[in-house]
Amino acid sequence: MNKQEILEVKSLINSPKRIVLVIHYSPDGDAIGSALAMAIYLQKKGHIVHILSPNPFPDFLKWMPQSDTILLVSNELERCEQILQASDLIFCLDFNVFERTGLLQSALKASQQPKIMLDHHLYPPTYFDYMYSEPEKTSSTAELIYFFIAEMMEDKHIIDKQIAECLYVGIITDTGSLSYSCNNDSTYKVLQDLVSHKIDGERIHQLVYQTYTESRIRLLGYCLSTRLTVLDEYATSFIYLTKEDLERFNYKHGDVDGIVNYGLSMINVRFAALFYQKEDRIRISFRSKGDFDTNVFARNHFEGGGHKNASGGNFYRSMEEALEVFKNAVKLYKNQLLAPWE
Ligand code: 5GP
Ligand code: MN
Repeated sequence: MNKQEILEVKSLINSPKRIVLVIHYSPDGDAIGSALAMAIYLQKKGHIVHILSPNPFPDFLKWMPQSDTILLVSNELERCEQILQASDLIFCLDFNVFERTGLLQSALKASQQPKIMLDHHLYPPTYFDYMYSEPEKTSSTAELIYFFIAEMMEDKHIIDKQIAECLYVGIITDTGSLSYSCNNDSTYKVLQDLVSHKIDGERIHQLVYQTYTESRIRLLGYCLSTRLTVLDEYATSFIYLTKEDLERFNYKHGDVDGIVNYGLSMINVRFAALFYQKEDRIRISFRSKGDFDTNVFARNHFEGGGHKNASGGNFYRSMEEALEVFKNAVKLYKNQLLAPWE
């Protein structure tokens, strides 16, 4: 956003409005944290705010302030579309293409209200009225929201403990607890300010990470003992889970989150994938170390995208075919995967 656009957004949010915050399908800690922080901020400025999530969000985020007010499009499409239609202003948070909003996408495409996009994914399109997009330099959408509130809108004084907690969750979850996408001093400056609001980072870590059910930890064990394949000659590993596997371990939404990172944690592995079967397709998570670009890989071979070191993809045929496509595709990147570390 240039100076003029910042002034325009400021004037848009300086008088009471009905504002809708839209987040992406299968929202993660960054999407939920960003939306809740924005909702609390905008409410404190006198707006009526609704958060629309295309589908349910993980249980480990349900302790977050106001998370019980998030409306699920998958539960009440008509009501959500009406709320969208009746709004004056729409924020799109943590995604940059309408296709990532599931059932809401046609209503969102058709909507005439001004749309403000705050996001950190690569290759933003140009169909938003206002865009604050920093794919290179920013850990998370939550970090961008901090700058949006504190600097662009000059409302740092409005940030309170609840907003700080929500932004903290966004940054921590999108950086794997400060293990990737955080080689930037601004991330730490933002965290320093958030922590100054007396949030309890240790408690938040417990609430977010130490919440496995027994079946979820056993599913992880099964992935590592039985379903992990290492392709040494490509510095790559993959794990796959069929529908039967997931049923056996009493799968609940979110149970596979984080499993892909175990595939990457071996010393000789630079690229890891997790395939798991959903109702209508196979979902894939990709993670990498260093310069290997998972976003390019996901876009080229699996109808997906994301960031350099973390992307997602989709496949609409069988698991066997997905794994074949993967193993063949990996061969094309052999030089990059085996290149010496800088
Ligand atoms: P995850 O593996 O956690 O599902 O996704 C990792 C990252 O890739 C997230 O930042 C997410 O926003 C992005 N991502 C996941 N799936 C897709 C997809 O289908 N398309 C695009 N463009 N990005 C995705
Ligand atoms: Mn994010």
